[in-house]
Amino acid sequence: MGDSSIMVWDSVLSGLRTQIPPTSFETWFSDAQALDYTDGALVIGVPDSFKKGGIERRYRDTIEGIATSVCQQPVSLEVRVLSMRPDGATALEKGEPPAFPTVGGSLPLNPDYTFGAFVRGENNRLAVAASEATADAVARNLKKPYNPLFIYGSVGLGKTHLLHAIGNAVREMDSARSVVYTTSERFAIELINAIRNNSTAAFRDKYRQVDLLLIDDVQFLKGKEATQEELFHTFNDLHGNRKQIVLSSDRPPEDLSGLQDRLVSRFKWGLEADIQPPDFETRMAILREKATTRGLEVNHDVLELIAKRISSNVRALEGALVKAIAYAELQGQPLTPKSIEGVLPKEGRRPRLTVAHIKEEVALHYQIPLPELDGASRKKEITQARQVAIYLARELTELSFPSIGREFGDRDHTTIMHAYSKIKLLLADTPLLSADIGDLQEGLESRYSLIR
Ligand code: ADP
Ligand code: MG
Repeated sequence: MGDSSIMVWDSVLSGLRTQIPPTSFETWFSDAQALDYTDGALVIGVPDSFKKGGIERRYRDTIEGIATSVCQQPVSLEVRVLSMRPDGATALEKGEPPAFPTVGGSLPLNPDYTFGAFVRGENNRLAVAASEATADAVARNLKKPYNPLFIYGSVGLGKTHLLHAIGNAVREMDSARSVVYTTSERFAIELINAIRNNSTAAFRDKYRQVDLLLIDDVQFLKGKEATQEELFHTFNDLHGNRKQIVLSSDRPPEDLSGLQDRLVSRFKWGLEADIQPPDFETRMAILREKATTRGLEVNHDVLELIAKRISSNVRALEGALVKAIAYAELQGQPLTPKSIEGVLPKEGRRPRLTVAHIKEEVALHYQIPLPELDGASRKKEITQARQVAIYLARELTELSFPSIGREFGDRDHTTIMHAYSKIKLLLADTPLLSADIGDLQEGLESRYSLIR
């Protein structure tokens, strides 16, 4: 039944893409795979129990809804945790999932993330030029102009795209070069597994033999002492052997708190190139590029409206375009500025953000009943949603801890402070939570005005 499960799952993914923000889509579904479809039961596999829980809690209804309409019969979803064996084979694990998937290895390069598909503007000129020069030097075995190359900028501005583009370009110029792309979290998990399996020697060999090591999101190394230690040695080895290292982060090296000084000082040895939010012209060019790659003809006025309304995040820009197209299709209307007005963030004076707005957004996001946020339930998913709402209330409004307490079922201010600092701490090294909070914040900021 493998084939039909893949077809069903593909349709579900296409549907989901238009219904949820691209960041959420990537976070939850990038590594999910179809396993089986028999008699209205769709089984998918994900790499860890965290994703299983998240998908079941947040997306079960949506997935079952789409699958039901695709298959024209009621479909129920089952999510299983898969563990990867080092040879890449997957072993299906029923019952209790492992704490970590035992994955072997780095991550694949996305073939769509190339230099050709990357739109240049004033905002990213240095980062792109340095990335191209770096790719060239690695492929042709020249002296490395910048080592490491450290690319930084806030979320959704193209850091991951550029890292993949460097890797893709090197492979294209010289397929014999060994290129490894990983994220700091993946590197950490791999190291933990290596320590558990007594295979640290193999782990080291692998990373010290590469020509180009690309490590995404090094801000998540915070607090991971053993991983920092290992990376420090890997870095020294590669650098000493004139191998290239490229790193990305959401902030410049000097602002990376919780990282060992000696590691941060290595990060500053080469070039630090930042990416800023794109200006209007660049946003228009990006939208045109994205429409073209998707084979869509979208008229200028529509692109202009989207480019005007969304300014700080390219992923959101792309998401709005996709959403606008899907929306127009659903309504059976041509794609015009007027027909997509409803899906775009409002222009002009937006209502001032209140705690009530935050609660609504959080309840919807986590799919829990709104009153639970004020209530006393200690169920794990409810507590976490409540803490996230409290965190956002503190971050996005000017309210004091006691006033926030009053908004959340008259809780004591110490409880509120505790919730706030708990989320703040978790955020530092829980990428999925920070993606969640990023989504929530993005949604709120696009519809309400914030006074901080
Ligand atoms: P980051 O890693 O900085 O959070 P990504 O590299 O994931 O951002 O980029 C988010 C999305 O925006 C991707 O789909 C990427 O292709 C697209 N993108 C970002 N900047 C550009 C650009 N200058 N030209 C084309 N696409 C871009
Ligand atoms: Mg990224």
